[in-house]
Amino acid sequence: MGKQQSSVLEERQDFIIYNKKNTKKQATFQCDQQSTSGAVSQRACVYCGARVVLNPITDAVHIIHGPIGCASYTWDIRGSLSSDKEFYRNSFSTDLRERDIIFGGEKKLSAAIDEIMATHDPKVIFVYATCVVGVIGDDLGAVARQAEAKYGIRVIPVQSSGFAGNKSSGYKAACDAILDLMSSADSTRPPVTAKDPKAFNFLGDFNLAGETWLVKRYFEEMGVKMITAITGDSTCEALQNAPNASFNIVQCAGSMHYLANHMKETYGIPFAKISFYGIEDIVDSLRTIAALTRDDDVIRRTEALIQREAEKTAFALNAYKKRIAGKTVAIYVGGGFKAISLIKQFNDLGLKSVMVGTQTGQKDEYEVIQDLAEEGTVILDDANPTELENFIKEKGADLLVGGVKERPLAYKLGVAFIDHNHERKHPLCGFEGALNFAKEVDLTLNSPVWQYLKQSDKSDADHGNIKSIEPIEKFA
Ligand code: SF4
Repeated sequence: MGKQQSSVLEERQDFIIYNKKNTKKQATFQCDQQSTSGAVSQRACVYCGARVVLNPITDAVHIIHGPIGCASYTWDIRGSLSSDKEFYRNSFSTDLRERDIIFGGEKKLSAAIDEIMATHDPKVIFVYATCVVGVIGDDLGAVARQAEAKYGIRVIPVQSSGFAGNKSSGYKAACDAILDLMSSADSTRPPVTAKDPKAFNFLGDFNLAGETWLVKRYFEEMGVKMITAITGDSTCEALQNAPNASFNIVQCAGSMHYLANHMKETYGIPFAKISFYGIEDIVDSLRTIAALTRDDDVIRRTEALIQREAEKTAFALNAYKKRIAGKTVAIYVGGGFKAISLIKQFNDLGLKSVMVGTQTGQKDEYEVIQDLAEEGTVILDDANPTELENFIKEKGADLLVGGVKERPLAYKLGVAFIDHNHERKHPLCGFEGALNFAKEVDLTLNSPVWQYLKQSDKSDADHGNIKSIEPIEKFA
């Protein structure tokens, strides 16, 4: 791997490389580290990482113990859907102020729990520590234990002070809270021998735009049983039942590898990594699940599903490939698994990935990215907007795939954009999602707006010659 030499801060040099094929893996490439101070990382804080994982638990109450500003991270910017309860769409905060910082916030937290019990009567409350709580040293555990004794419910502290690590530390804090919740049902758990070999949990899917429901339809056709997604459209009771699974599948490994490992150690549940993004990974994942059941009927039904859906989707994708092939793509997403699936998905559509980066990718995931990426592709971890801008320009990317923070950057640069993150409203997973994805790539790349921008660059006021490329189908 060749190091880049552009205007990158010296402390960031080892987090960015130009991919080199047929050489030993870049030993010095760095990832999964604290963000460089002053580099203005795109990463969220520990608390936000914890909230991402726990918020989709639909019947829990989430209290943010801290200043009101921390509570602005709500359901609205993470559109995970619920099939039943809507508690999780509220954002409760203790609204700590100067006086609470001086005299302590524990009484205010107890009062908040009392108020919520009087108005909502939940079975489970998660209490999140924020930066200021970590500084003043409020004892969340003590307040939680008192509330549990008083009301006979679970009150689970989430140790997520924003400064105590990075977003990945928040994922771990959330996983610890989920393990705590699971352990409440350990005394009533049926024996291991009573486990259904076809029952499993789906770790690392958050039901964005109903994606959990979409793949659940495949599971039903295959004859396998998902106990719960963790945490998309999950309930506290379903999470307590999760240890009754025979195996776990892990999609977002960045957030869930820790939980999968702990469930393996504590409950003896094996796990496999999967991804439902892009045809190649969908097919591999369905086969992996079928194989884990060791059930011939499940394997047969899975193959029938794959044959029917893959054939149908490949046919539909061909119409888009002709219109988008040959373009270049910059990828900057949260986790490594998504970046890996996206490279494969773009390869299949005939697009070349010229920049690939993640916020929380792990070393083994970057090794796969290096294997998949072409010579000279920029690979970067925990980037800032300036780095993204410089490399998008340098590599001449036609399209940026990212999240809410990258969207304005793309539009300012006059580059097409796809949101593959929290707030999107359409599923991108599964066979249907793969088609949605191609449709969106086509619509954004072939939007007439880019021609107006080119005209504007040339100071040409006459836009009369601009020809729109009619979309095959409007995106629903
Ligand atoms: S960094 Fe601290 S203060 Fe900022 S949102 Fe996160 S927990 Fe709140």
